[in-house]
Amino acid sequence: MLADTMGRPLRDLRISVIDRCNFRCRYCMPREVFGTDYQYLPRSEILSFEEIDRLVSLLVPLGIEKIRLTGGEPLLRRDFPTLVTMLAKHGVELALTTNGALLAGMAEELVVAGLDRVTVSLDALDEETFQSMSDTETSVAEVLAGIDAAVAAGLSPVKVNAVICRGVNEHAVDDLFEHFRGTDVTVRFIEYMDVGASNKWRAEEVVSGAEILQILAESHEFEPVAESVVGQVAKLWRTKEGDEVGLITSVSEPFCGDCCRARLSSSGELYTCLFAETGFDLK
Ligand code: SAM
Ligand code: SF4
Repeated sequence: MLADTMGRPLRDLRISVIDRCNFRCRYCMPREVFGTDYQYLPRSEILSFEEIDRLVSLLVPLGIEKIRLTGGEPLLRRDFPTLVTMLAKHGVELALTTNGALLAGMAEELVVAGLDRVTVSLDALDEETFQSMSDTETSVAEVLAGIDAAVAAGLSPVKVNAVICRGVNEHAVDDLFEHFRGTDVTVRFIEYMDVGASNKWRAEEVVSGAEILQILAESHEFEPVAESVVGQVAKLWRTKEGDEVGLITSVSEPFCGDCCRARLSSSGELYTCLFAETGFDLK
């Protein structure tokens, strides 16, 4: 099995299939930076499906157990279901992270192609907060329709990821938990991270997992759920009624020691850390 110099096995591969996105989330691709004159990768630089498939066929025997397709917004990649069909043949869990805007029309086709799991990002349920945080004209209803379509297509349990930023969407903590409890959807709250120079990250804007749990504890009693997988990123908490919530505390309690992920950029660079500035050019 492949391990890094810290002895950490490489089990989880995230593949960015595109560098473009149809949203401009303030914390990820703010419009001031990713505006009309932003230079995305030329198409010739982006890994082809055949190149991705070849890399996966070389990495799976080295211990990869799970592949997550991400971006940018992966559903913008032309013929995306074809890539899913190709990668499903490798016999490892195949998951997708999406903003959900295009999911309603594609969920079923993706399941037929061999997708096993989906995580949908959704930071608020009220239109105003959602549209201003994601800087999009897509409506909450469209994303919710995508989540419903994923559940209907058999992708349960669907996960919903929400980034919580101070002074922006703390109210979404309760809103999202109440909306999805008792359903096939588990909500996970992510601490706002510094993803490079582009998002002008400020520590004061981070709402820690402990604070998020405190907000939830005002209306429900939670107990911790024992970790089922080493390197599990979300810490799970459960109410007496059995409703679970996940907290991804990458800032307040970094889990680097247990990290078993690598990331493949859309141009073919392999990164073993989300915060790394340079990757290894596999092309
Ligand atoms: N476009 C897809 C989406 O939004 O789900 C996939 C790519 S997106 C980069 C993957 C995840 O990273 C999303 O759940 C998003 O909320 C999260 N993310 C992006 N920037 C972040 C930041 N600064 N802090 C924490 N999470 C972030
Ligand atoms: Fe796009 Fe996802 Fe980044 Fe938002 S978080 S800008 S949806 S890539």
